[in-house]
Amino acid sequence: MARTSKIQSTSTKPKQAAPLKDERTEFYCCRCQKQYKRQKANFPASQSTLYKGNGGYLAICNNCVDELFEHYKAALGNEADAIRRVCLKFDIYWNPEIYQMLNKASTSQSRVRAYISKTNLYKYIGKTFDDTLDEEYAQKLEAEAAVQAELEAAERAREESIIKSVEPVYDDEEKEIVVDENIIQYWGTGFTPEMYIELEGRRNYWLSQYPPGTVLNPGEEGILRQICNLEISINQDRAAGKPIEKSVNALNTLFGSMNMKPSQKKETEENYVPFGVEIARFEDGDPIPEPDEDFKDVDGMRHNILTWFLGSLCKTAGIKNEYSQMFEDEIGQYTVERPKYDDSDDDVEEGETVV
Ligand SMILES: [Zn+2]
Repeated sequence: MARTSKIQSTSTKPKQAAPLKDERTEFYCCRCQKQYKRQKANFPASQSTLYKGNGGYLAICNNCVDELFEHYKAALGNEADAIRRVCLKFDIYWNPEIYQMLNKASTSQSRVRAYISKTNLYKYIGKTFDDTLDEEYAQKLEAEAAVQAELEAAERAREESIIKSVEPVYDDEEKEIVVDENIIQYWGTGFTPEMYIELEGRRNYWLSQYPPGTVLNPGEEGILRQICNLEISINQDRAAGKPIEKSVNALNTLFGSMNMKPSQKKETEENYVPFGVEIARFEDGDPIPEPDEDFKDVDGMRHNILTWFLGSLCKTAGIKNEYSQMFEDEIGQYTVERPKYDDSDDDVEEGETVV
């Protein structure tokens, strides 16, 4: 159903029509045509504006509503679903809360009519199936918003855990950088304050490359620590004109351990996507559209292959399906049948048809 957000805040219920005076003395059920002297006790009362011109009663009699209910109960296998379906048909307010009230009350009425009479209680006055749809739509939006909020909270928590004091924090005299105790714990002691800041910067960079909500295991954390260290020392060595090949090789090995080497990406088990799964992804997300009727089988090749190859094969293998049927139909056109001479043409029994 294409609903716009405009509907969200306002009701979708139509307005009431201007009433005329009701002077009828007999009433007919629109379904079974049975005639009744009065509507009360014979037709279910309704809150819907669609039935206001009918005295506020459904145009279908109690018996028919019961029959429909029994039908839906058998078809859907569930009483609540059956009542909801009856409500949908007759623009009656559906709310599981009312259905729950029903379970407690004992009544001689049929379950569906007991439900309908509850919808006519003061509390639910003026409510119709439009209200049900509006409420269900609002609930859906609410649930979606809750999921969204949860995701955002997770993302915020992740960002907070990453972006720790990368900006240097100075002491009171603004001379020395103060390093957070946790940061020293993480990287180990013995670095200059500037080095800690640089290391944290590298770590945050790498963590920001992972999808939201990723938690590294201790082994990965250890490797990442080494990667950050090496990157910085490579930069320092390069600036100082020292050889860096060994460190670069070591860094490559570390990338390999973290599955961060480009060549590895294709092969790891997590990233490996079998061909069929890939196709399924395309088909689920962006399926190839059905061809236009005119272009479906332009040269009849599909028909030919299905009939003369697949159909013939199925027929040979004794499989009865639409293809073997296609083959039989097609071959039937080229088959001459021996004419049958029936001598007993004259004594055809009554009721029999002569072809
Ligand atoms: Zn009826």
